[in-house]
Amino acid sequence: MKTNAYAAVAADKPLVPYSVERRAVGPHDVEIEILFSGICHSDIHQARGEWGNSTFPMVPGHEIVGRVVAVGAKVTKLKVGEMAGVGCLVDSCRTCGSCTAHHEQFCEKGAAYTYNSTEMDRTTPTHGGYATHVVVTEAFALRVPAGLDPAGAAPLLCAGVTTYSPLRQWNCKAGDRVAVVGLGGLGHMAVKLAVAMGAHVTMFSTSPSKQADATRLGAHAFALSTDPATFTTLAGQFDLIIDTISAPHDYNAYLGLLRTFGTMVLLGVPPTPSPVAAFALLGGNKRLVGSMIGGIKETQEMLDFCAAHNVVSDIEVINADQINAAYERVIKNDVRYRFVVDAKTFHGA
Ligand code: NAP
Ligand code: ZN
Ligand code: ZN
Repeated sequence: MKTNAYAAVAADKPLVPYSVERRAVGPHDVEIEILFSGICHSDIHQARGEWGNSTFPMVPGHEIVGRVVAVGAKVTKLKVGEMAGVGCLVDSCRTCGSCTAHHEQFCEKGAAYTYNSTEMDRTTPTHGGYATHVVVTEAFALRVPAGLDPAGAAPLLCAGVTTYSPLRQWNCKAGDRVAVVGLGGLGHMAVKLAVAMGAHVTMFSTSPSKQADATRLGAHAFALSTDPATFTTLAGQFDLIIDTISAPHDYNAYLGLLRTFGTMVLLGVPPTPSPVAAFALLGGNKRLVGSMIGGIKETQEMLDFCAAHNVVSDIEVINADQINAAYERVIKNDVRYRFVVDAKTFHGA
């Protein structure tokens, strides 16, 4: 089935209207008419070849919410007419240790990512959510609870689970002092989710203009990371730091904010490495760790948590022909706090 889409054709070219072939619906597949597709900073990194692994043409988009319009004969998880989501993964081997432990993102054979990747046959390219339709095996489709606004729910499929997963892994709980670094798509979800888990949240930002938003999102305190005094005043204060910055920055300064045995989680993927001093970790047995998206089970758990706690993303809905302008605005740090493409505007593309 031919589907209208938007694709990156080269790292140095704007995205253009494109037509992508979706497979026929197999016995275990669901076909989703996409309603909304979020723009993650990872889409930009990959469309611009910043991670060195880009294959073109590339239809980005891994924050997909839509309506099920067809299901295969063996599908039990979803019915025609229900709301469904697709995140960063569309398949994995399903038998290795990581897959059976529900961490499909770490499939030992290499997961099939939603775009800039291949299906598990390792030849069929995958294409993402900047399109009118997607076909996905039911095991990798998510149920989007009816109470969630579909447009606001789309960014939960990446930004939501990417921040939910480390908060759970590092046992974020009532009374914990959590620092969220970088108020963008991931950062604003981290604030909302940590607040919903009962933590005391401090927002670290380079943008004084975002202070009022941080408060509105639920943060209890705001710290300007451009002011060196911040790092002395708040030294040793935090149990957990969630670092979402997309550009190179000094990890050592943030490690100084951790209390003894505290944990700093890297979520952002700056294109170049940054040095870490051993002494920044030794004093206080601190942990500097990473976290990559989340498995399918955890993604469903996150969606259900968001429905129970009334959490969705703060979004600006755009049309398909505004995607290139939206990329520029994300890079200029001018997004409040996620762009979501209205997928019906791909129809005329
Ligand atoms: P985003 O919306 O662009 O937010 C990034 C934020 O980082 C900005 O809002 C800004 O916050 C801060 N920032 C940007 N440039 C900075 C600089 N030069 N110095 C200091 N702070 C800066 O991006 P996003 O979609 O949230 O993604 C953030 C990063 O996470 C990206 O690298 C993305 O690829 C990565 N990511 C990782 C995973 C994973 O699985 N780990 C999943 C999705 C995305 P302030 O204005 O508040 O300073
Ligand atoms: Zn993403
Ligand atoms: Zn596997």
